[in-house]
Amino acid sequence: MPLMTGEQYIESLRRLKTRVYMFGEQVENWVDHPIIRPSINSVAMTYDLAQDPEYADLMTAKSSLTGKTINRFTHLHQSTDDLIRKVKMQRLLGQKTGACFQRCVGMDAFNAVFSTTYELDEAKGTKYHENFVKFLEMIQDEDLVVDGAMTDPKGDRGKAPHAQPDKDLFLRIVERRPDGIVVRGAKAHQTGAVNSHWHLIMPTIAMREADADYAVSFACPSDAEGLFMVYGRQSCDTRKLEDPCSVDVGNSRFGGQEALVVFDDVFIPNEYVFMAGEYEFAGMMVERFAGYHRQSYGGCKVGVGDVVIGAAALAAEYNGAEKASHIKDKLIEMTHLNETLFCCGIACSAEGHPTKAGNYQIDLLLANVCKQNVTRFPYEIVRLAED
Ligand SMILES: Cc1cc2nc3c(=O)[nH]c(=O)nc-3n(C[C@H](O)[C@H](O)[C@H](O)COP(=O)(O)OP(=O)(O)OC[C@H]3O[C@@H](n4cnc5c(N)ncnc54)[C@H](O)[C@@H]3O)c2cc1C
Repeated sequence: MPLMTGEQYIESLRRLKTRVYMFGEQVENWVDHPIIRPSINSVAMTYDLAQDPEYADLMTAKSSLTGKTINRFTHLHQSTDDLIRKVKMQRLLGQKTGACFQRCVGMDAFNAVFSTTYELDEAKGTKYHENFVKFLEMIQDEDLVVDGAMTDPKGDRGKAPHAQPDKDLFLRIVERRPDGIVVRGAKAHQTGAVNSHWHLIMPTIAMREADADYAVSFACPSDAEGLFMVYGRQSCDTRKLEDPCSVDVGNSRFGGQEALVVFDDVFIPNEYVFMAGEYEFAGMMVERFAGYHRQSYGGCKVGVGDVVIGAAALAAEYNGAEKASHIKDKLIEMTHLNETLFCCGIACSAEGHPTKAGNYQIDLLLANVCKQNVTRFPYEIVRLAED
């Protein structure tokens, strides 16, 4: 199946029976809902740019599994060059949307689950890696969006999952059947969850033996029986209900999205299970996913930074202030901060290394530096833009 266009992606969402709640009520036509649609438009951009020959080097890749041309968002990184292209692709998407485009978490989860299941099988003689490869081939062939789901509600942060008074605060296996497992719990703050076709679930912390039922990784479709989502509020979100042509609606065309994804006894067939009790490998999966995700910020937030810096420069020009030296100094400082973030994304990629499974992992220390800076610099860039 060829790569989808943005429009085909949006139409594919209409065929799902995803259950979405917002403001305490179920939303029937969530694809066209004015608060949700901007985030769908952002994801659609990951499809439209992959159709443009100008961006083919960044937006597409040759699958290591099938040899076919795929969207880079479904790719297993094969080299440090692939890792660098990932960051550049994210910067491009940030520039084109001025928002979160949500498809990175799935890509980061693919790469973490691929390498972890390989080492898990090697140690335990299980067949999780084979399961995962089949799943990923389907995702690549059908060019689908997958939510990378790690964060649990967690409850008392001082207690392990099994020690929580409410056993469902971490997602867990409640039943093991010959043909699969039944899971209960939730994943919180899930980026792009509502407009994903599938969810790829991972444990959220390193675990011990008593937490074996919580050491679970699997994939399930968005409209699985027992699965529903509560849309996350954002500041000024109801402005999106206003006429998009009126003033003060912000970035009305594009946006980000997070949701609480609830699993109310969802059955997962064995073929989609990638970890079910092997608690020794929970920490490895968490660390690898988090590393890739910290790298991602060195691309996506930089692209949004480019938009903010460009807008600030334009505002200065409109006001006839663009030649003032203090304005120039501020634009230079914003650029310096933004490019420093980019340097971190590129550096942790260039220092990447192959995993046992063959895909490439970033340098974890440098990716952590990237994350530390991303918790500071974008705020300072916006402060300077406001000034
Ligand atoms: C915009 C956005 C998008 C996101 N997208 C995704 C996504 O797509 N997929 C996903 O899986 N997650 C996602 N997340 C979740 C994100 O990864 C988590 O918010 C993050 O890991 C922190 O977890 P937490 O919210 O449970 O906070 P915590 O980790 O609990 O931190 C809260 C506070 O408690 C403190 N604390 C934590 N543990 C302890 C302890 N044991 N003792 C003392 N203090 C402690 C921390 O230092 C912090 O101050 C997203 C979050 C946001 C904001």
